[in-house]
Amino acid sequence: MKKESKAGGPVFGNSRLTKMPFGGDYNPEQWPEEIWEEDMRLFRLAGVDCVTLNVFSWASLQPAEDVYSFEKLDRIMDLVKKNGLSVILATSTAAHPAWMARKYPEVLRTEFSGLRRKFGSRHNSCPNSMVYRKYSRLLAGKLAERYKDFPNLIAWHVNNEYGGACYCENCEKAFRVWLQEKYGSLEALNRAWNTGFWGHTVYDWEEIVVPNLQSEHFEENRTTFQGISLDYRRFCSDSLLENYREEQAAIKEITPDIPVTTNLMGFYKPLDYQKWAREMDFVSWDNYPPNEASAASIAMQHDLMRGIGGGRPFVLMEQTPSVTNWLPYNALKRPGVMRLLSWQAVAHGADAVLFFQMRRSIGACEKYHGALIDHVGTEHTRVFWEMQALGRELKQMGSQTMGSRTPAKAAILVDWDNWWALEYSAGPSCDLKYLDEVERYYTAFHELNIPVDFISTEDLLGSYRIVVAPVLYMVKTGYEEVLKQFVEEGGCLVTTFFSGIVEEHDLVVTGGYPGRLRGLLGVWVEESDALPEGAQNGFTWRGKHYPSELLCDIMHLETAGGEAVYESDFYAGSPVLARNAYGKGTAWYVATRSSREFYRDLVKVLARENEVREIWTPVAGVEICERRNENGRFFFFLNHGNEEAELTMEQDAVRLLEGRLYKKGEKLVLKGKDVTVCLV
Ligand SMILES: [Zn+2]
Repeated sequence: MKKESKAGGPVFGNSRLTKMPFGGDYNPEQWPEEIWEEDMRLFRLAGVDCVTLNVFSWASLQPAEDVYSFEKLDRIMDLVKKNGLSVILATSTAAHPAWMARKYPEVLRTEFSGLRRKFGSRHNSCPNSMVYRKYSRLLAGKLAERYKDFPNLIAWHVNNEYGGACYCENCEKAFRVWLQEKYGSLEALNRAWNTGFWGHTVYDWEEIVVPNLQSEHFEENRTTFQGISLDYRRFCSDSLLENYREEQAAIKEITPDIPVTTNLMGFYKPLDYQKWAREMDFVSWDNYPPNEASAASIAMQHDLMRGIGGGRPFVLMEQTPSVTNWLPYNALKRPGVMRLLSWQAVAHGADAVLFFQMRRSIGACEKYHGALIDHVGTEHTRVFWEMQALGRELKQMGSQTMGSRTPAKAAILVDWDNWWALEYSAGPSCDLKYLDEVERYYTAFHELNIPVDFISTEDLLGSYRIVVAPVLYMVKTGYEEVLKQFVEEGGCLVTTFFSGIVEEHDLVVTGGYPGRLRGLLGVWVEESDALPEGAQNGFTWRGKHYPSELLCDIMHLETAGGEAVYESDFYAGSPVLARNAYGKGTAWYVATRSSREFYRDLVKVLARENEVREIWTPVAGVEICERRNENGRFFFFLNHGNEEAELTMEQDAVRLLEGRLYKKGEKLVLKGKDVTVCLV
């Protein structure tokens, strides 16, 4: 059973939606009012039924410190209500007004280099500025008060894509307070940071300074003191989360029944989304994969977003209808791809399909970002037609899939503290990147059509048969007991090289690697050899040869059995793959990184041994996902390839978008980039 997030039930609370919301960011305030009616005509034509409003309007809503002006937003709210559109109303606090920066320079952020910023860009507000916090809270409350009676208001969208960090004096002071609350005493702090090293002992809280280019860092991701840098990451994530919580509280006081969210960004390193999601009513996120992204790498982000929300559906808050504007080469989404990626989001748990943006702006950095309505201003464009067709399909689908869940018996553990600590580590290899390792395992499950949940160290493991914890470098005090219990009761745990090394302060657990996991894994890792890029060792397992790269842990088997050995170098013949029987379960230690083929073969073995079944026989290039609810089991078939693909129906099913019945054994042909959804 998963630990549920703060709220349960449907994503949009009590609103009686009859279909998945379709539409997205709409910025009529950037346009003369004469064209608003034309926008409404085009929305009707495209099937748009939901808009996100007011994302960057602070300067217009509060033109001076003591002046608020809601008249234009009133007209926009009335317009969309009259036209039957649902609204996700943003609080506008991701970009403060110019007057505020001029009058109160403390609202501005200080960069990692120590440079104090001036007014400009967005995400430029210091999260620990009392002025910023006061006025953002006030604005959120005023918006809630003004629009609380709009029946079409389905959700609140606080700020926008929270992110970044600040290194100003306010943050430095707040960091000291945060540390005092966390550690209680300087003795505890000195111990946690191991400040005996390089004579860093602090004797007064005021001696603590922010870790940046002026102090402990020599690059943004390279520090001489991991303890303080790790705590600063936690503090920055918490500071922004506190901003979110304050606005949310101001809103909830007035509209307690309307859900509140903010749009996240998938695997976004600066913010501990697992902690964030516990505060949010539902998870929403922005999906902007580069054109070369694999189906698995996009799916992985969706699954993470579902996972942080405790398995509940999420909202696809933004994606581009066609093109982005920030890449070196902004390729168009090929015909069919926008539809394919929209359904992929639904297949992984989305209950809404929304876009940035509805009408393309004429100035500033997003004027070439894709939109439903292009600069030509008409419906006669490829992108409009594709959106219109998707709008029809979503209408046809109705609410059937809404609220449905993904049935996963396998899980991958992801932990932000581990991610931060691992990548601050000086050694063993500059090529060791957490998400690379996570993606290797995820891709294997994905290719085999085995659904996976992403879990945190706070989630319960009892409903899973397999848990993979790639590079579990940091084992927080007590978490080893959770893993032991899981395996003891019959679970299968897999972990890898460079695991169990440190505790939550990034201090090494002495007594032999993998530290607190040594008994569970039944191995002692004596040394770890980093291979330079391109260098390989190798091993043979169950008759097949695989490469070994990146890191080679050199280990001794204690209670574990060896499954394979290194084939070369001075540690040739020593074990590379170990398997330990523990209680009713099994714990695996994979001491090196290997090839895609190895991960697939390993996952096949794990799945077979633990009776975790694929949901459908894999077909090359076709992603197959399942969601379930009281209406039945929905299977999504997504052909990411350019060529036609053929599947055999494994059960009788209704093809929902085509409205016809398929009998078991019948062939289902999917053109390149095509999608179909079946109900079993
Ligand atoms: Zn600051």
